[in-house]
Amino acid sequence: METAELINELQSFGARLVDPKAGADSRRGGAGPSDHKAMTIDGMTVMVPVHTAPAFESPYLVERPDAFGRSRVLRDGLAIGDISFPLRPRFYDLETADGIPYSKIAVLHGRDVLATTVLQTCIRYQSRTKTCQFCSIGQSLAAGRTVAHKSPEQLAEVARAAVLLDGVKHMVMTTGTPNATDRGAAVLCESAFAVKAAVDLPIQAQCEPPDDDRWFERMKASGIDALGMHLEAVTPEVRARIMPGKASVTLERYQAAFEAAVPVFGRGQVSTYILAGLGDTPEAILAMAERLIAIGVYPFVVPFVPISGTPLESHPAPSPAFMHAILEPLAAMLAGADLRSTDIKAGCGRCGACSALSTYERAGRAA
Ligand code: SF4
Repeated sequence: METAELINELQSFGARLVDPKAGADSRRGGAGPSDHKAMTIDGMTVMVPVHTAPAFESPYLVERPDAFGRSRVLRDGLAIGDISFPLRPRFYDLETADGIPYSKIAVLHGRDVLATTVLQTCIRYQSRTKTCQFCSIGQSLAAGRTVAHKSPEQLAEVARAAVLLDGVKHMVMTTGTPNATDRGAAVLCESAFAVKAAVDLPIQAQCEPPDDDRWFERMKASGIDALGMHLEAVTPEVRARIMPGKASVTLERYQAAFEAAVPVFGRGQVSTYILAGLGDTPEAILAMAERLIAIGVYPFVVPFVPISGTPLESHPAPSPAFMHAILEPLAAMLAGADLRSTDIKAGCGRCGACSALSTYERAGRAA
């Protein structure tokens, strides 16, 4: 089986683990995709759902890893691929002077990404009628796995340790949306400024488009290298159904914000995150991707993962064929525009672990 095909299969179906403790602690709850474990397949570290409803029924079984974290994936008892689990990061063993474990402030994503949700609260999460149906930002907070607001000092301390102890290469800072004005840009600025003062680490910030484009200059001046403004869904009907609160920020506002942000951060350094499988057709996603690529925005398309405890926990994940129908032409479009995940300074597009997109890009280049 081709690597891209295997990644698509694993991300759609998830995997059962012979040893649930294998590898580093898995992501549960939080903003965006969750309930995964990082696994490395053919040099690519990808996030594979292991705690979702489909994963419990998955035809894929991952054997207990050996002492070096190496394991095999089986389907119907036949070994179809080798994988390894990234080791538990060393910074997880540390805590701040006031006794907060570093892992409650930021976590390792993929292989070398430090990720944090600066504000674990969100104006969109106050009521079930407004909340993004796929999001579990409040769950990890309610479960005591994180703190509501990570201070700039805490983030700087953890980022420095993660670079020194674990060789982390870039950082993702996302945030719940605190207000309807800057929409998180201000708290991301103060956080990035503190991290950059402590350690030389490329940072991607992620927020909704702020109400004023001058925030992009401020974010860049604060040390933010790349920006993610995440559409999640691309058609007005799907946005209104899946993310009724966030859909109040229109597609037109996203488009204008992308056009204003690209000259500030550079071509390919502004990205968006699109969840495939929520109702948008492959054609709609590819049409949006084409428009975004034309203005220098990298569209990172990932398979929707139904997170336990969210309103969409029983919604099916997209099939591998559905993902293939998007990712293969999308990788060709990116190559045609000379936009590469490997040129992104920081963030989800560079990490790539939540999608097989960068594997398609790599396969296209090799061909
Ligand atoms: S793609 Fe983004 S959300 Fe997914 S593991 Fe990488 S940094 Fe985290």
